[in-house]
Amino acid sequence: VQGLSGLRVAVLGLGRSGLAAARALRAGNAVPVCWDDNPPAREVAEAEGFECLDLARANAFDGIARLIVSPGIPHLYPAPNSVVVAALDAGVPVDNDIGLFFQSFATSEWDMFDVAPRVIAVTGSNGKSTTSALIHHILEHAGRNSQLAGNIGRGVLDIEPASNGGVVVLELSSYQTDLARSLTPDVAVFTNLSPDHLDRHAGMGGYFAAKRRLFAEGGPDRAVIGVDEQEGAFLAGQLSEGAVDDRVIRVSVDRKLGGPGWNVFARKGFLSEYRNGKQAASIDLRGVAGLPGAHNHQNACSAYAACRALAIAPRVIEAAFHSFAGLPHRSQTIGEKDGVRFVNDSKATNVDSAAKALTAFGSIRWICGGLEKEGGLEGLSGAVDTVRKAYVIGREAAGFAMQLKVEAEVCGTMAVAVARAIAEAEAGDVVLLAPAAASFDQYDSFEKRGDDFVALVRAHLG
Ligand code: ADP
Repeated sequence: VQGLSGLRVAVLGLGRSGLAAARALRAGNAVPVCWDDNPPAREVAEAEGFECLDLARANAFDGIARLIVSPGIPHLYPAPNSVVVAALDAGVPVDNDIGLFFQSFATSEWDMFDVAPRVIAVTGSNGKSTTSALIHHILEHAGRNSQLAGNIGRGVLDIEPASNGGVVVLELSSYQTDLARSLTPDVAVFTNLSPDHLDRHAGMGGYFAAKRRLFAEGGPDRAVIGVDEQEGAFLAGQLSEGAVDDRVIRVSVDRKLGGPGWNVFARKGFLSEYRNGKQAASIDLRGVAGLPGAHNHQNACSAYAACRALAIAPRVIEAAFHSFAGLPHRSQTIGEKDGVRFVNDSKATNVDSAAKALTAFGSIRWICGGLEKEGGLEGLSGAVDTVRKAYVIGREAAGFAMQLKVEAEVCGTMAVAVARAIAEAEAGDVVLLAPAAASFDQYDSFEKRGDDFVALVRAHLG
């Protein structure tokens, strides 16, 4: 980290990214002053020789140059964090690890020699991890030195320093873009927008505003924007100001984008690139095993566009699609037995992503339920045509089942749900875990929930 040498910088939250921030600050000759309400987290920091001081005490921000807030700490919604408020009252700028990362790269001496890595930042409601991992995969396939960081892969302050021709692919959540003081990627990708995480951003407006910060004044050289929601369409229009230029690449899975500008869309299983109304490339996505369903075709289009922005050739991207294995817990096929296929999409923690998963397959034995998100299950009703029957898990399984517009059996636990789905499945069916809910009523994380499903399925597959 550069530009903070000799200054005292407060670090709030001492998880993985908080500790990485403290280490990076120390390496840049700043003096980190750490705090976490959780004593064991403080002990870890103290064992590394970091000074811990209660940031909630009076005058805690005297002599402090900046406050770095961990992504896990809600800073404004549902209620303002008192430490963050105290910092702002004391006139101390509030930032996070992403802001530190961009500040370092922007002022880096590497930049003067034009060998700093290019940074591709991916944001949006759904598909961020898949899109980021796919971009990284394509770049590696193309022989570029790529590092995957942010929400997925390494902590952003743990990546290796710049290397010639290198690329950093950053997955960013809205919490991260919301706080970062510097956000200057070379390519910014906005996948889509759906009403998730609204509690921390005061509704849709605040949520969109947080994502949009990535595209602000002085922002990316290239913006890849999903235009199937009105917000994305608006953002794309605003950035290109109606002009036909190369700054914006529009992405759609709803319609053909054949007009002026640079467009990438998927229809009927084919990805097409059009520039100023002329077709530049076409890729058949139907046989791409790692990217099933229209939602993954959107991820394919976004990743394609981001890599085209770095001048990777369409044929190279096409070949990389075929070697992409997909990510665990996202449309992940576990295996097949007696003509029944088993798919783990535990990451479908909200209604929108579960609806996408349901439309990617047919004849579904659907395992769903868990901790319901705000906004109810109404958004699922249009997507359940492919469902033969639902097997509902979670502490509130009965209440969840009652809201579904399909035949539903209250199972409670994953073990019961998997056993019942297997007992009733017929050849041609897909047993799909796509919960449309958070996991925290029964599991520590969506990964644990997916692992539980996979273990039960593997036991059955033998
Ligand atoms: P994120 O990192 O944004 O949470 P992931 O790539 O991890 O996104 O995918 C999370 C879940 O969202 C997947 O399990 C899948 O069901 C669904 N999903 C993936 N891509 C999309 C998309 N483009 N649009 C809607 N839902 C998607």
